[in-house]
Amino acid sequence: MMPPVPHNCCFPSSARPVPFEAARRTAVALARRLDQPEDVPLACASGRILAATIGAPRALPSFDQAAMDGYAICLSGRRGVPLVLPVAGRTSAGDLPGVLAPGTAHRVMTGAALPEGADTVVMQEQTTRRGDLMQFGLDVAPGAHIRRAGEDVAQGSAVLQRGRMIGWAEIALLAALGVETVPVVRCLRIAVLSTGSELGAVGAPLRSGAIYDSNGPMLAALLSGPNAHVTPLTVRDDEAAIADMLKSVARSADVVITTAGMSVGEEDHVRDAVMRAGGHLDVVKVAMKPGKPLSFGKLGEACFVGLPGNPQAAAYGALAFVRPIMAALLGEASARRIAAELAFTCSRKPDRTELVPVRLQVEQGRLTARRSGPDGSHRIMPMLSADAVVIVPGASQPAEPGTLVEVLPFGRVRFGG
Ligand code: AMP
Ligand code: MG
Repeated sequence: MMPPVPHNCCFPSSARPVPFEAARRTAVALARRLDQPEDVPLACASGRILAATIGAPRALPSFDQAAMDGYAICLSGRRGVPLVLPVAGRTSAGDLPGVLAPGTAHRVMTGAALPEGADTVVMQEQTTRRGDLMQFGLDVAPGAHIRRAGEDVAQGSAVLQRGRMIGWAEIALLAALGVETVPVVRCLRIAVLSTGSELGAVGAPLRSGAIYDSNGPMLAALLSGPNAHVTPLTVRDDEAAIADMLKSVARSADVVITTAGMSVGEEDHVRDAVMRAGGHLDVVKVAMKPGKPLSFGKLGEACFVGLPGNPQAAAYGALAFVRPIMAALLGEASARRIAAELAFTCSRKPDRTELVPVRLQVEQGRLTARRSGPDGSHRIMPMLSADAVVIVPGASQPAEPGTLVEVLPFGRVRFGG
């Protein structure tokens, strides 16, 4: 972890930016996993993070069952079962398990409990039925078309680990196991404070020189979800007003985010306001473009992240720093990292990481990333035509097409089936 910036320091503009990856590690280290699980009904668990490992209360399948509509027979211990058997008995899915009378075939439907004494299911398509007699071919393999108890899930096995996000497949598994309520990590409380005297209220006419706050609504949309409740607020460029608001939201928030006012201009008051509110900063600049003035630290128990004001800098700072902090607070299992090949030449400098909005596409079997718009972190449009940002590490030479780079997806693309 980087040594914290001393309290009450005035952040000299000469403070060296922290390398991007080191800054990300420091940010994650600020977050301590929440230890407040809550039980929610399965129907409300989608998207939540498991607070405990789930053991299977039953096997899946729970009993041997027919995998096909057909006939259950017993082939074992006999060399040539007759090719024609009388049909005696019938079991459908949901019926109590039946018994196979020796020397007979037992009609079964897909999902039916295998009758006691049967060891093979002949699929209907391999049989001919004449009255009460069923004829089948020699090609029937002993043991065929049976789903064995426990072949999918063994009773008592740890099926879902703590920290896993509950998606539709996890819901299917938990429902199949008969789980009614699930222990999940409580929802994060996030405060987003848009700072800036230029910010006009939505719904009111804008005075000349003012702009609408787009960062607050953008970050609320980007960060809120089943695991996070976001409260957006605005405040003017005034150190005392910002400090008051920070102090008040830090009492109940897990993460406090500000946008704008992080740099060295005369109206950039957020860093001093963090100090005034009793917080501290571990990093005050990150070697990245856009978003160098990004800062973070702690405000009481809350993690604090000060994002720059330009919309792309704020969005990519949230993806690269706030999201990992949230994952660490939730104890979420680490996400798999994805790489793509650059499909353009990316200019860069040795001492900073470039974050570039890109459109992802599979070309000749390879995932490629194409720049989605012109430079300029004040622009919103390049984010609309992008699927992700790529992280291009600093170097003295441009990154050529074909260079593999890490991708931070926006969530619009799905990888795999
Ligand atoms: P700052 O970081 O305060 O220097 O702001 C950088 C740029 O971002 C300026 O052009 C601001 O007007 C703009 N900006 C600041 N806050 C917001 C916001 N909440 N929504 C949209 N743009 C903003
Ligand atoms: Mg400003």
